Amino acid sequence: MAQEKKKHHCEVCGREISQEEYDNYDGMCWECWDDQLTEESDSMFGELM
Ligand SMILES: [Zn+2]
Repeated sequence: MAQEKKKHHCEVCGREISQEEYDNYDGMCWECWDDQLTEESDSMFGELM
């Protein structure tokens, strides 16, 4: 197993994130991802109601 550990940084706040976070959260840390998700669902709910 010669897996290279590449460093990634959150596209939004610039903090260091793991490869896993990078893959799972679209290049963001989970906090920024969560922020975006909340904003998106907020506007979605706004349209629904
Ligand atoms: Zn971030």
